[in-house]
Amino acid sequence: MEEKDKFLRLRQEMVRYQIINRNIKDNNVIRAMEKVPRHLFVDEVYQNEAHSDYPIPIGSGQTISQPYIVALMTQELSLLKSDKVLEIGTGSGYQTAILAEIANEVFTVEKLPELMQKAKKVLLELNYKNIYFKNSDGYNGWPEESPFDKIIVTAAPEYIPDSLINQLKDTGIMIIPVGLTGFDQKLFKITKLKNKILKDEICDVAFVPLIREKNK
Ligand code: SAH
Repeated sequence: MEEKDKFLRLRQEMVRYQIINRNIKDNNVIRAMEKVPRHLFVDEVYQNEAHSDYPIPIGSGQTISQPYIVALMTQELSLLKSDKVLEIGTGSGYQTAILAEIANEVFTVEKLPELMQKAKKVLLELNYKNIYFKNSDGYNGWPEESPFDKIIVTAAPEYIPDSLINQLKDTGIMIIPVGLTGFDQKLFKITKLKNKILKDEICDVAFVPLIREKNK
């Protein structure tokens, strides 16, 4: 079997058993996860494991999120074709690609330059033209491009940063894990409604920390 067909089959199995069978219903999410070549977002030694039901190392102590978590977070964002999205924690760039398949524009912020470079290379090779990259501290968001319709944070702070809430549009949604890694960390859906902030708990999760600079 050709490599290309092998990875397509692995993606289809991943979508069937880990995504649809676990009640992900958003067709845009399902279609995007069938399409985006997940194996290209991990190092070659991990390519055969790329569709497994767990996170995989991507270097610098970071991981690519488990497929189900990517699907769940994306579904909870209720993405529209017209959305302008902010992503904090580019990592491998896989979640970025899923967002870019569905939404109009994705602005992604990554603190570690070596990860940002790798992600940028893969995403440009895949020909995405609606992704904008920033090598910076995600606690600051991307004020020049705000406000955003949707915000997704793929590493966990201890508290929700005010700066990110401020950069969310009215009626906007933010999906963010909060709490210490390994201790009672939860995924939240934050909705901004006429300057009221609604906070809904989605589930328990285990994300790497959103790294805080020591002098802050
Ligand atoms: N969605 C990514 C997840 C990567 S893990 C994927 O599936 O590949 C979380 C990412 O957040 C890592 O790349 C890490 O370097 C980045 N990160 C951690 N602290 C950060 C901060 N303060 N600002 C921006 N990015 C940060």
